[in-house]
Amino acid sequence: MATCKACQEPLTLTLDPADPEIRDGGEEAVMVPDDLELQACGCHFHWQCLLDVAPQVTTSMHCPACDTSLASGHAGSSSSASSGQTILTNYASEDGVQQDYDILSVLREEAYFAQHPEDRSAKALHIMSAEGDVAGIMDVLMTEAEDAEELYQAAPVQRLTTWRDPLNGGQTALHVAIVNRQEDVFWLLLWVATPGVPETAFPAEIARRANSQVILSRMKTVYSGQIDQGGMDVRFVRDDNGRTPGDLCREVGSPFSDFAQSAVFQ
Ligand SMILES: [Zn+2]
Ligand SMILES: [Zn+2]
Repeated sequence: MATCKACQEPLTLTLDPADPEIRDGGEEAVMVPDDLELQACGCHFHWQCLLDVAPQVTTSMHCPACDTSLASGHAGSSSSASSGQTILTNYASEDGVQQDYDILSVLREEAYFAQHPEDRSAKALHIMSAEGDVAGIMDVLMTEAEDAEELYQAAPVQRLTTWRDPLNGGQTALHVAIVNRQEDVFWLLLWVATPGVPETAFPAEIARRANSQVILSRMKTVYSGQIDQGGMDVRFVRDDNGRTPGDLCREVGSPFSDFAQSAVFQ
């Protein structure tokens, strides 16, 4: 049986039996396939072992084990990747086998975050925004705020909520929430990240719900009290296409187009 070219171990992954997400529970450790084959050269890796060398692979576009050129696809073709390049693999995992799986975008993302580890929590916020995970977002914001010195607690909130994802069109978490039509996340992000907006501008139901959560109202107080209002209001951050969250609201239509008319955006 083939082994991983990076660590020489068998191409399996042992799941932690203590992980509640594992269906069969029990005391026994569960072994699943974890076999990522590069089509260009036929070398096999564990998923994580290839991701660990993502900066090297995306820079060289060569196999880290045998140095074969991995780039396929043609510049100017209709490939979805902007460069027209792909790195095709066959990946066998717990979920079955995926043939012709293009791993290049995953590697590029991993390479970016290896070089910018401080942006990982902002990316996590974006994923939660897409999924509508309000509790998760609260948790990330509060954790980062609590790690900061008291006087600067607003700074991480501002950094996270105005961070523009370079691998996703320069969108903020608010853009992501709008695209994915996540209303609760939309209002939460506006609530915490628009220091110049008075509470009375928010729909009464939103303000009532936010104020009923002690943590959330505290966040807003801390935020609006300690940061000056220039240039960090999430309403004014544009994506790579020059769109503010308000512009995007009008693009995705009702009910977001109505939200963009509300007092919060005036
Ligand atoms: Zn390995
Ligand atoms: Zn190879």
